[in-house]
Amino acid sequence: MTDIKSLSLSELTQEIKKLGEPVYRAKQIFKWLHERGVYSFGEMTDISKGLREKLTEEYYIPEVIIEEKYVSKLDGTVKFLFRLYDGEYVEAVVMSYKYGKTICISTQVGCKMGCSFCASTLAGFKRNLLVSELEGQLHTAQNDIGERISHVVLMGIGEPLDNYDNVVKFLRLINDNDGLNISLRDVTLSTCGIVPRIYDLIEENLPVTLTLSLHAPNDELRSKIMPVNNKWGVDEAIGACRVYAEKTSRRVSFEYTLIGGVNDSKECALELAGKLRGFISHVNLIPVNEVIERGNKKSTENALINFQFTLKKHGINATIRRTLGSDINASCGQLRHRKKQDN
Ligand code: SAH
Repeated sequence: MTDIKSLSLSELTQEIKKLGEPVYRAKQIFKWLHERGVYSFGEMTDISKGLREKLTEEYYIPEVIIEEKYVSKLDGTVKFLFRLYDGEYVEAVVMSYKYGKTICISTQVGCKMGCSFCASTLAGFKRNLLVSELEGQLHTAQNDIGERISHVVLMGIGEPLDNYDNVVKFLRLINDNDGLNISLRDVTLSTCGIVPRIYDLIEENLPVTLTLSLHAPNDELRSKIMPVNNKWGVDEAIGACRVYAEKTSRRVSFEYTLIGGVNDSKECALELAGKLRGFISHVNLIPVNEVIERGNKKSTENALINFQFTLKKHGINATIRRTLGSDINASCGQLRHRKKQDN
C-alpha cells in the first residue's frame, strides 16, 4: 500500500496514468487530499465509484486523529494530542494572533537530539513523521477549529532538519495553490543546529524563516545542555545562519531558553551580544518550561529583564516570549510523554 497523501502532484499524476485514468483526475484527488484534507476516498464525491474502489485497494491516507484536546481559558490557545496510524502520538498547538492562526507542529515521533531541558526526548525517538502526517496536523486542526490556519512553525516534537526530505516536500505541498496555499514567508523552521542541513536548505530556494535554538553563547556551556553542539559548535551554527540570511534575504532569529543559574548570567548575555554583533537578527528569550524529570528551574524575573537589557544595550534586538496557553501545558513533548507512561 502506498501513502497517497505523501506524493507530489507529478508523482500522483504518474500513479493515475498507471491506473489508466485520465490525467485531470490527479488534480481532483490532489485537491481532496491537500486543500480539503479528507481522510477517506469515499468523501471524494466527484470521483467515480470505480476509481474510488481502485484507490482504496492500492493506496491509503495516513490519518491524524485527535486523541486529546485542551483549550486555554486564558487566551484560546488549543493544544492537540494526535494519534497516528500506528498508535504513536505527537502534539501540536494552535495559537491566535492578530494576523491569524499559527500552528506549531511536530516533525518526528520523539527526538534524538537529547537537549537537557527538553521533554521531547524523554519518551524516546520512534520515527520520522511522514509528509502526509506533517500536513495532516494542519488539516485535522483546521477542520476541527473551523478556521483557516495561515502560519506554521516547525517547533513541536522532533528536529525538522533530522527529517529533512519529508519536511522539504511538506513545505512545497502546503505552498501549493491547489493545496493549503500557505505562503512560505509565514513558515518558521526551528533547528538545534544541524549545520550541513542548513546549507542544504539554502539551496532549496524556500523563503522560510530560520530559527536557531542557541541557548548558550559558547561551546563549553552549549555542549553541556545540547549534545548536538559536540558536532557543530556555536560559531559554525551562527556562521551557517549568517550565510542563510545573506543568501535568502530572510530574517534569522535565535531562541535562547533561560535556565536559572545555568545560562542566564550577565557574562552569558555579554558573550552572546559579542557573537551576534553586526548580524541583523532577533533573539527570543524564553523562560524555561520546568519539566519535572529535567530538574531545570526558571530564571528569576530580575535575571530575565537584565539579560534582555544587556543584549539591547549592545544593539541586539531581544524580546521575552509571551507565554500562551500556560494553563494547558502548551509546551510540546509533555503530553506524549505522559501518554506513554499511562499505557
Ligand atoms: N528541534 C528543534 C525544534 C523543536 S524544539 C529545535 O531544537 O529548535 C522548539 C524550541 O523549544 C527549541 O528552541 C527548544 O530548545 C525549546 N524548548 C525545548 N524544551 C523547552 C523547555 N523545557 N522550556 C523552554 N523551551 C524549550
